[in-house]
Amino acid sequence: MQKTADAVVIGGGIAGASVAHFLARKGFGKVVLLEKGSLAGVSTGRSAAVVRTYYSNPITVKLAWRAVQMFENDREALGGDSGFRQIGFLLLLDEGWKTAGDQILEMESTHGVEVRELSREDIRELAPPLNLEGVVRAIFEPRSGCADPIRTTESLVNGAGQWGLTAHVGTAATGINLDGGRVRSVETEQGTIDTPVVVNAAGPWGRQVGLWAGLNYSVRWSRETDLIVTQPGDFGRLPVISDPPQRAYYKPHADNTMLAGLGYPKEVEPLDIDSYNEDLDADQRGRIEACLFRRIPVLREMEYHHGYASIYTIMDDWHPVVGPEPHIEGYYAFFGGSGHGFKIGPPLGEALADVIAGEEPEIDIHQFRPSRFLEGETFSSAWGGGNRG
Ligand SMILES: Cc1cc2nc3c(=O)[nH]c(=O)nc-3n(C[C@H](O)[C@H](O)[C@H](O)COP(=O)(O)OP(=O)(O)OC[C@H]3O[C@@H](n4cnc5c(N)ncnc54)[C@H](O)[C@@H]3O)c2cc1C
Repeated sequence: MQKTADAVVIGGGIAGASVAHFLARKGFGKVVLLEKGSLAGVSTGRSAAVVRTYYSNPITVKLAWRAVQMFENDREALGGDSGFRQIGFLLLLDEGWKTAGDQILEMESTHGVEVRELSREDIRELAPPLNLEGVVRAIFEPRSGCADPIRTTESLVNGAGQWGLTAHVGTAATGINLDGGRVRSVETEQGTIDTPVVVNAAGPWGRQVGLWAGLNYSVRWSRETDLIVTQPGDFGRLPVISDPPQRAYYKPHADNTMLAGLGYPKEVEPLDIDSYNEDLDADQRGRIEACLFRRIPVLREMEYHHGYASIYTIMDDWHPVVGPEPHIEGYYAFFGGSGHGFKIGPPLGEALADVIAGEEPEIDIHQFRPSRFLEGETFSSAWGGGNRG
């Protein structure tokens, strides 16, 4: 274990892997990433990893669009293969979503996103197995898709080895030492690392790590479930589908299977992040299956494959905290991505690395600063509960 580093990143999910990757890539020096379990072993590894661009805040649209371009060009932009499948993203709209549909089209077009409106006939042609009951039209993002979250994280970390990133997987950080309002060192299970910079990318444990530096973040956690069913061999190629009328989403998954989960708004399901039921329970399974089978009836005949639960880490306005803390020089936060933290992880990591290096990022991420809550400048989101970003 190194005794000194130019920056220590705590957490090896998409957030930590991204900022560590971009810090090393820009020549920041010796960058050390600490992961107490395995890379992408918590929320990131269980992410549906959908990369799409419709959001209600311009900054989120910009970041998501940048993400699409990074995933398209993953070997160069993300250090290696991300498993990205550019199958498109289909947003089904009913009467209740008419106004939102117009706003989404405008917002996306304004930011240069490739997007088009589909009629019911177009949707039938694109996705024949869908039951379009209640659907009046759709929005289609042809360049969106989904990635492999574990492969993405590993590529970011391994791809930056050449630039001086060292990852210690299976080593927990246990404390942060400050001296005169500055970061002095990070304590680990393997000893102390002297460093002027620490990034708290500990995901669900971001609050705990913040407390080491005397920061008291307001965080909630929700148990989030997905299920996977097999699909018929002759099913054809579907895009990722968001089904706001039913508050559900479906994604063609690996090995001829389909993943499905429930979207917001719905109730938050609090959990103990250190000990919770990681299996899909019967009630959740029933709720997800009801939506999935109504929208794609042929899947009713298919076999249930498996299901699981993981964690959303939720700040008070559902957006991550990313940036410095005004009173602790050298400390940066990067956690709380709730349900959209995978896709915006790499572009946020890229921008945060610039901020840490004292440079101006191409996408200004000031809006994500942790102090926004104290300053009363939080995000609001127009559609579908906070998670629609
Ligand atoms: C079911 C589900 C579906 C989702 N679907 C999508 C989607 O389709 N698209 C999308 O954009 N987002 C999605 N998300 C959200 C996204 O996955 C998360 O926002 C994102 O993965 C969070 O990444 P993270 O790096 O902040 O946290 P995590 O992935 O949880 O990583 C934090 C890491 O920090 C480590 N750590 C904690 N404390 C310490 C310590 N003291 N020392 C060392 N290591 C430590 C942990 O072990 C962990 O590996 C989904 C989330 C879930 C749960």
